Amino acid sequence: MNKIGPFAEVIVALNTRRTDRVFHYAVPDEFQDQVTIGSRVIVPFGGRRLTGYVTGFGYPDSTVKVKEIAGVIDAEPVFTTELLELARWMAENYICSTAEALQRIISPRFLVKGSREVKRVYSALPKDKSTEELSSIAGNSKQSAALKRALACPGLTRKELAAAAEVSTSVVNALIKKGLLTVSAMKISRHAVQVDLDNVETKKLTLNADQENALAQAAGAIRRGAFKTFLLHGVTGSGKTEVYLQAIAVALEEGRQAVTLVPEIALTPQMIELFRARFGAQVAVLHSALPGGERYDEWQRIKEGGAPVVLGTRSAVFAPLTRPGLFVIDEEHESSYKQDDHLRYHAREIALKRAQLAGATVLLGSATPSLESRIKTAVGGPYQLLKLNDRVDGRPLPPVRVVDLRREVKEGNGGIFSRTLIASINRRLESQEQVLLFLNRRGFSTFVICRECGLVLKCPRCDISLTYHRDGRLRCHYCNHQVRSPELCPKCGAHNIRLFGAGTQKVEAEAVQFFPGARILRMDSDSTARKGSHTQIINAFQKRQADILIGTQMIAKGLDFPGVTLVGVINADTALHMPDFRAAERTFQLLTQVAGRAGRGSLPGEVLIQTYNPEHYSIVAAAAHDCDRFFLSEMPVRRSLGYPPFSHLARLLFTHEDEEVVKRSAALAKDTLKKILSSEAQGISILGPAPAALSKIKDRYRWQLVLKASRRNLLRDVIKEFLSGLERERAVFKLAVNVDINPQGML
Ligand SMILES: [Zn+2]
Ligand SMILES: [Zn+2]
Repeated sequence: MNKIGPFAEVIVALNTRRTDRVFHYAVPDEFQDQVTIGSRVIVPFGGRRLTGYVTGFGYPDSTVKVKEIAGVIDAEPVFTTELLELARWMAENYICSTAEALQRIISPRFLVKGSREVKRVYSALPKDKSTEELSSIAGNSKQSAALKRALACPGLTRKELAAAAEVSTSVVNALIKKGLLTVSAMKISRHAVQVDLDNVETKKLTLNADQENALAQAAGAIRRGAFKTFLLHGVTGSGKTEVYLQAIAVALEEGRQAVTLVPEIALTPQMIELFRARFGAQVAVLHSALPGGERYDEWQRIKEGGAPVVLGTRSAVFAPLTRPGLFVIDEEHESSYKQDDHLRYHAREIALKRAQLAGATVLLGSATPSLESRIKTAVGGPYQLLKLNDRVDGRPLPPVRVVDLRREVKEGNGGIFSRTLIASINRRLESQEQVLLFLNRRGFSTFVICRECGLVLKCPRCDISLTYHRDGRLRCHYCNHQVRSPELCPKCGAHNIRLFGAGTQKVEAEAVQFFPGARILRMDSDSTARKGSHTQIINAFQKRQADILIGTQMIAKGLDFPGVTLVGVINADTALHMPDFRAAERTFQLLTQVAGRAGRGSLPGEVLIQTYNPEHYSIVAAAAHDCDRFFLSEMPVRRSLGYPPFSHLARLLFTHEDEEVVKRSAALAKDTLKKILSSEAQGISILGPAPAALSKIKDRYRWQLVLKASRRNLLRDVIKEFLSGLERERAVFKLAVNVDINPQGML
């Protein structure tokens, strides 16, 4: 890179946010060869030594006394000019400093300077050995499982192989001792690692017409090398993954690289295996649970070109690829793509920005696309819609029945299980098939419901469900509208208004009573608190060691249970009445996902949804597997209330140990914001202050302001001005303020 001046321009990672000033430092002779754009350096700063990032070269103001760079942290630059541009964009859009954004981009930290050795395991046997031959060669079933896995996925570490084959590392070690597995130490050098093409299996699956068309469109865009975004909308089981895999192959043919993001919960060993079976050692896997050393190795492999196929969760979007040609985002509607603390970025937005900078293709995949993405596929919109209408196995989507709980109450059944659900479960148990009972998470908030007519009180201004508080009042968490919880239902006059919600434990207790002979498992955050117990429960259920599995959304996504022929949704209302403007969208997505779990094996399945709101459009549309219907019902609601995708939101969250302080400060903040608004901008409305739905976490009270604006720039400018004013008045605001632009949830 050209050096325009002799002095390095450095941005410094300061504790106070939003400082993007560039400081000039002289480069001592000893570092001349090392310091370049992208270097991470140590600089003297106000009597301290701080980390800085070199963003350019030039001349300082003549009045400034220039200091020298005190050290260089990494052997090589840690960011490219493209990533610097991305950091600047993040600073602008998420209201942070560029240094802070860079910190996020380049993690894992490049603390290791030299090279390190990684030992990888390969099978010593030829590839064409049959299962029977392997079993006879191996000492026992565990060893043969490990051998099989080593053949399918060459180049795993010992630990990875053991995990993939579900055996202990001692099994792997025993095979190495016998000479059936070989270990080769791969030195992670600074030079490109040669890709071992012998280990790549290229068994592409045959595509159906829809898949063929989707791939042709994506491949065309990848080959043209221009920025282009597709929304791949396919029903559950329609073979989106095969389209991803073949599109990735096209990117590789073009000499470019590909990043595939999956939600945390979907990054299963099966998923990794699928990628490794197709692309072998070219695959790098990145996720937050990876130990620091392994994460560093993978990062380095990607950087050096040894792993052009990246598979990972949210933060893998920052993978240091030099020529990305394709970004795939599976389940693009998932809220887990939004980082929910500190720097609140959205991985989908980052992928789109990177693709734009690099001239790459973006493939957003989902069975239930977000409204934000879906609206962009409208005629003349920036995205192109690709549809996969059928399941690849040709099986129909399972029939869905909606059970009206109001009728159950009227007819004297006030329990968790409707008579229809009890009868269906009994039928499945008799024919020795499996049942999945699904319950939405609870405990975040409580609401009251009329058990006769299903009415839940909503805020007249914000259209979100009111939350019940111990003082007997109902509150809106967006605008703080309050009413006393009524004795009689304002709609039907019945005297049957109740606090709502039952936990998985209560469901389990009732299930034990109703189905005395059945073997029941429960999976929720309590039962899976111990490490590994999550996998144990899933394995036990897959091996049909239980008849009924009761769980929260952990069981809704990605899992495949061929023995399950009945999925029961205990209550759709918990999702429907979350205090969030996306509650209907989330309900539709959740029910569609859950319904996708039924009938994945050879037996046909069915789905039962219990609810007090059987006529709600999100439930009706999910029962009909009809995405368009949901979209057409929800859009007018969003439009009339000015919610995304028709606006941009920001949440300012204030927290403090003293509730009075946080309340007062939030009110003060609103006044300040109003003053800013009156002087410069119209088109922004402020809701609140109101207590957040989770009104207290770790002894800190939480209050929020919600800002709604027609344009994102407007929102950003106003918040920036507010925050810089805040920094000047630190004495007044002695509390933490957290800014979330376009939040995915506001609990
Ligand atoms: Zn009622
Ligand atoms: Zn409200």
